[in-house]
Amino acid sequence: MSQNQYDVIILGGGPAGLTAGIYLARAKSNVLILDTGTPGGQMILTYEIANYPGFESISGYQLSSNMAKQAKSFGCTIKSNVKISEINFGKDIHEIALENGDTYSAPALILATGGRSRMLNVPGETEYKGRGISYCATCDGDFFQDKEIIVVGGGNSALEEAVSLTKYASKVTILHEFDHFQAFEQAVREAKEHPKINFIMESHITGFYGDENLRKVQYKNLKTGVESELSIDGAFIFIGYEANTSAFKDSDVKLNQWNEIITDEKLQTNIPGVFAAGDCRTKQFRQITTAVADGTVAALNALNYVREKK
Ligand SMILES: Cc1cc2nc3c(=O)[nH]c(=O)nc-3n(C[C@H](O)[C@H](O)[C@H](O)COP(=O)(O)OP(=O)(O)OC[C@H]3O[C@@H](n4cnc5c(N)ncnc54)[C@H](O)[C@@H]3O)c2cc1C
Repeated sequence: MSQNQYDVIILGGGPAGLTAGIYLARAKSNVLILDTGTPGGQMILTYEIANYPGFESISGYQLSSNMAKQAKSFGCTIKSNVKISEINFGKDIHEIALENGDTYSAPALILATGGRSRMLNVPGETEYKGRGISYCATCDGDFFQDKEIIVVGGGNSALEEAVSLTKYASKVTILHEFDHFQAFEQAVREAKEHPKINFIMESHITGFYGDENLRKVQYKNLKTGVESELSIDGAFIFIGYEANTSAFKDSDVKLNQWNEIITDEKLQTNIPGVFAAGDCRTKQFRQITTAVADGTVAALNALNYVREKK
């Protein structure tokens, strides 16, 4: 069991948390990142990133590893796969306890816990999760070599990942609930021009069916009400994500109706010394660049906060 004091503790080592770690460690702050999973966050789930400035194209794994390496090179401590048992938001000092008995404290915290994929919540989804249904093209794409798959969703992730899945699949059908896509124009154009991709619009999935593995989806046209079936080998679901804020739900940290953390312009929450950055907070666009920007703003304001306290 160990007890450790830091200047700033960051919860979450995605691009927001890692950027905050880089800025703080470089400013000679004693900084710790605690991640309940693997540093890199959602970037790890991304096969190819083509909109992060400075890299025409880079794998999510590589960008994650670069950011973590850079943070460590300045002296940031990163602990992965931790099990947090308690978070106490105090008046002057905030404390975090792990299940193994270790405790960590700091006058400033940055909450950078990101988000996760949303489920459709239709029959068969839980049953065939991992047996044909996936939420991560990077992780599972190559299981579908020369197979026919469906991609559900109409945002950037859905369209970009559908294009990346054409490297494996023989045919990709994108199913979306509206008659238009919410993705950036470039992503829509790429998907529409791809010879392996076709579309089912204005439809909802009503169920997943199969034997040992997923074999078909049933879907309903929302305009006509007609139900149809499509034989497929796999389904990738990209219908947005939810903020990872359950750890703060019963705390004093203010959340909005979607359980996203409310911040001011300095990215401070309603609790002095507690900042939030990235996908876990209320914001318009959830991207790596915006997470990185948040990490910078939260880090610099946390730094000022700690200096003023001293
Ligand atoms: C499939 C997919 C493809 C994408 N493609 C792109 C793309 O091409 N370009 C782009 O710009 N964006 C893309 N995005 C979005 C981008 O990845 C996110 O906006 C970005 O990663 C958010 O960063 P973050 O640091 O806020 O959170 P995350 O990346 O979600 O990281 C949060 C971290 O916090 C950890 N964590 C969770 N809860 C806790 C807790 N209670 N305590 C401690 N740690 C915790 C998690 O393990 C995770 O490591 C994609 C997302 C997905 C899902």
